[in-house]
This record gives sequence, structure tokens and C-alpha cells, in this order.
Amino acid sequence: MKHCVVIGGGVVGLTTAWALLERGHGVTLVERDGEVALGASRANGGQLSYRYVSPLADAGVPLKALRWLLDPDGPLRFKPEASWAQWSWLIAFLRNCRGPVNRLTTARLLALGAYSQASFQRLHAEAGLGDAIALRTPGKLVMYRKAAEFARVASRVQPGGAEQALSHDDCVALEPALADTEATLAGGIFTAGEAVADCHAFCGELYARLSAHNGFRGRLAQRVTGFKRDAQDRVTGVVTDAGEVGADAVILAAGLHSRALAEPLGIRLPLYPLKGYSLTAPITAGHRAPEVSVTDFEKKILYARIGQQLRVAAMVDLVGDDARLDAGRLASLQRSVRATFPNAADYDQATPWAGLRPATPSGAPILGASGVPGLWLNVGHGALGFTFSFATANIVAELVSGRASPLPLDGLSL
Ligand SMILES: Cc1cc2nc3c(=O)[nH]c(=O)nc-3n(C[C@H](O)[C@H](O)[C@H](O)COP(=O)(O)OP(=O)(O)OC[C@H]3O[C@@H](n4cnc5c(N)ncnc54)[C@H](O)[C@@H]3O)c2cc1C
Repeated sequence: MKHCVVIGGGVVGLTTAWALLERGHGVTLVERDGEVALGASRANGGQLSYRYVSPLADAGVPLKALRWLLDPDGPLRFKPEASWAQWSWLIAFLRNCRGPVNRLTTARLLALGAYSQASFQRLHAEAGLGDAIALRTPGKLVMYRKAAEFARVASRVQPGGAEQALSHDDCVALEPALADTEATLAGGIFTAGEAVADCHAFCGELYARLSAHNGFRGRLAQRVTGFKRDAQDRVTGVVTDAGEVGADAVILAAGLHSRALAEPLGIRLPLYPLKGYSLTAPITAGHRAPEVSVTDFEKKILYARIGQQLRVAAMVDLVGDDARLDAGRLASLQRSVRATFPNAADYDQATPWAGLRPATPSGAPILGASGVPGLWLNVGHGALGFTFSFATANIVAELVSGRASPLPLDGLSL
């Protein structure tokens, strides 16, 4: 049994703490905020998208990106900065924008997604999370507005496989809320088994279960400022603004902020914030909200019903470490959403949010050894941190326990 310190109380840190406790380790979790899940895990899209995992970096994306940048309502915004972090990330991202690289990363992420689905089912049953996390498994429909794009994707669907290509009419039959749309709808790809849940509620529930465990100690409102190291430079704990905490193993799971924490140790984590927005709008009597989780492929907007609310998540803004709400972006999102699902929820009462996805250039998280003994990584989950957290927690917990990773770590390590 080891004593472990987990840095970060987002979905990745919390699931890691759970996986370590399950393996008989003691865990102290240090979170700088007074509550868990106030970072990227707060109001994300809520999609547990185990099979729709293709990373943003793909052939054709640089060209599309230029078009998106010219469209004021486009999904992408770029503000050039005089920063090494931004430009080195962009160069590495462009290197990943090749078909064969995308296919390799997608294959790795599909394996991670399948393992995460199984890991989540086990966690959900063992932790007894119940109804509070608003879990549903309605499947996911990716809707295409352009016939040519749909035809290209539909031609790759394997008969009898997990995905089904649906015509316009089939999409509306599956999801009647699409009958209200003003968007042109060429068709869609439906994947059964994809789920939706409230990530923030999940984190709160899991933290409550962790806190009830006598091997766990939560230190909220304490910021990690550095690491304790011994004469051999092994990490032996963390330094916080409320004192030091010793550990046999320290797991860095501080989302985007992992980059700054690791840097003084000589570890350069290729993380950059991809800022996104969400709206959470109440569904009341008379609304027709989508039951199926929907991704609008061209607009890059996700729709998920979470209990009596519609969660809409969108946009990729490369604007640095800035989580402020931009009124122009929110107005643009409101316009798109009202045109796509006009009667789905009360958009006038929507709660807006912005979060920073802790993204790697490839779209794959970075797991395992950091290169500095005693320090382990569980970072860089980008657009799919809720989805992948259950898998990556188990992988890192196995490695910390001195065992082999349950999945090959090619492309998933530093
Ligand atoms: C708009 C949007 C939509 C998304 N939709 C989806 C989706 O539908 N499905 C999906 O799977 N994923 C989605 N994601 C991605 C997902 O939300 C993230 O990948 C995930 O939340 C990352 O979790 P994390 O724990 O790594 O980071 P965070 O949730 O940011 O947690 C990191 C924690 O570390 C703490 N911390 C930082 N520095 C320190 C320090 N020095 N000391 C102590 N604590 C520290 C922070 O306070 C924070 O609580 C979306 C993200 C966005 C922004």
C-alpha cells in the first residue's frame, strides 16, 4: 500500500483517487478551489462519447479552419499570442493533421473509450451513484447538413456494426425534436450505447463517496505550489499554501494547470487551452427537447438532455488562458441553437459557461510515468475528459501499483 497525493479535484483527479483507493492505497486529494469540479469539469457537454472519439487534428482541418475563422458564427476563433505555448502547440497540432495519424490516434482512443465504458459501468455500480448524476443511455446521433459530407461518412459505415447511417426521415423518426429544425439535414450517423450524464453532479457524488472512505483525505481550498524532492530528485510529496504533504506517489491531474506545475521539474507538457462554451437551458412544459444526444457536425455543437435541462456545448477558441464569457460568442451560440432546436428549451433562461479544455496536439491524453521518479501523469484529456476519465484513472492506478497498463500506452504517454 502506498500513500498517494492526487493534485486536482476535477473529474480526472476524482476518478484517479477512486481507482487508487480501490487498489488499497491511501489518498490525499488536493484541490485549490473550495469545491470540486469548478474547472473544465463544471458544465461540459455531458456526453459519454465512447465511440465518437476522432480527434480534432485531421487532414482537411487546416483548410476548414480558415473557413471557420472567416465565419463570425463559426466554431473556431484564434487570437495570436506572443507565447511559446501557443505556437509550439499549433505546430505540433498541424503535424497531427494527417489522415494516417488521425486514424492511428482514433484507433487508440476507441480502445480507450471501450475500456472507459466498462470502467464506468463498474464504478457506477460499486459507488452506487444512483439518479443524482442524471445518467441516460439514449445513443448519439451525429447530424450532417451537407449531403456530400454525409455521403462520405455514410459510405464508411460497416453493415451490422455499432453505427447506423440514417436518412433525413429516419433521423426525424429517431429524434422527433429534429422536425422543428430550420437547419438543412442531409442525414445522420447513429450510435446506440452512447450515454449522457451530469459531470459536475458526478464529481460531487464521487467526492462524497471518497470522503466517506477512511483511506481518503480531501484538502479543498489548498493550492499546490511545488513538489518535495529527496537527494535523488525523487518527488516525495507536494508543497501547498497550507503546508507540505508527504507521499510515496504524486499524481498530477490538475487539468490545464498541470503544465505550469510540471515545468519547474523540467517536464514540458504540450497542453493548450481550447476554450469552449456551454448553455444550460431549462426544459419546461411545451418544449420538445432532443432525447438522443446530438452532435451537429458542421457547427460543432453538442446537445444533451441532462434531467430537465438542455445542455448545449460548442466552440473551440484558441485565445490563451482566458475563461471569461465573451458576449459575442454567446450571442452567436444562441443564434445557432435557436435555429437548430427552436422549441427545445427556454433559451432566455439559459445559464452560460466557458471552460478550458486541457488539450494535447494529438487529442490523446498523457498517462503514466513523468520521467521524474515519484511523479505520475493523468493529463491532457481535451474534449473528452469526462468520457475517458474512468479508463485513464484505472490505467494510472495500475501503473502506480507497479503493474502493467491494461492497454498499450503507445501514443498515450509523454
Ligand atoms: C465546452 C466544453 C464541453 C465539453 N464537453 C465534453 C463532453 O461532452 N464529454 C466529455 O467527455 N468531455 C467534455 N469536455 C471535456 C472535459 O470537460 C475535460 O476534458 C475534463 O473536464 C478535464 O478534467 P480535468 O480533471 O483534467 O480538469 P479540470 O476539471 O479542470 O480539473 C483540474 C482541477 O485541478 C485544480 N487545480 C489546478 N491547479 C491546481 C493547484 N495548483 N493545486 C490544486 N489544485 C489545482 C483545478 O482547480 C481543477 O479543479 C468538454 C469541455 C468543455 C470546455
